[in-house]
Amino acid sequence: MTVKTIQVAQNALDANREIAVQNRAALDSAGVVAVNLMASPGAGKTSLIERTVAELKGQIRIGMINSDTSPAAMDAERAERAGAVAVHLNTTGRCHLDAGMIRDTIACLPLREIDLLFVENIGNLVCPAAWQLGTHLSVLIASTPEGDDKPYKYPRMYSGADALVINKIDLLPYVTFNLDYFRRGVEALNRGLRTFPLSCRSGEGLDRWLDWIAFLAARETAVLQ
Ligand code: MG
Ligand code: ZN
Repeated sequence: MTVKTIQVAQNALDANREIAVQNRAALDSAGVVAVNLMASPGAGKTSLIERTVAELKGQIRIGMINSDTSPAAMDAERAERAGAVAVHLNTTGRCHLDAGMIRDTIACLPLREIDLLFVENIGNLVCPAAWQLGTHLSVLIASTPEGDDKPYKYPRMYSGADALVINKIDLLPYVTFNLDYFRRGVEALNRGLRTFPLSCRSGEGLDRWLDWIAFLAARETAVLQ
């Protein structure tokens, strides 16, 4: 019984990987760089997208797939108001995105009119790490009010990230968050991980992030991972 259960789960992941490969090919042929944005609920995924879209408007064309477990589309609407081409993906309660959902959603997007696509995953630090989507890069957002112990508790999420944003650094004087302890935890899992400490609210540290996003959008997708 136990063996069968493991087999089914592995088959599902294998099937997902095949669709992810097809998604990557579709994105590559349209010249779209796609970023899988993962974080716990409330870390600032939508805020970072909103701010990035507003700051880079006129420079790069940004698309956004917003996922939530309900029909509430306010996050996609925020990105759209900032200037993104945005769609809302209602997972109807499912706690992570998979490659099939992304295949169906990118079919509705004008990919040729987009340089960079943010895929806002479900707010969850566990299973999104296991499901490939076909995106080029995975970016993890941590935020200071969550506490400094998250790399120790959710190692898979941290070890699989290509870049890390530490959001809400303007709150450091008011919350218990030891930056050294946090960074040691990250370094043990993902040595030299590209890290952007910033605040979407105050704008502190945002320039380095914006430079990197603009750099990515200008790259040929083939040279990305
Ligand atoms: Mg959101
Ligand atoms: Zn899940």
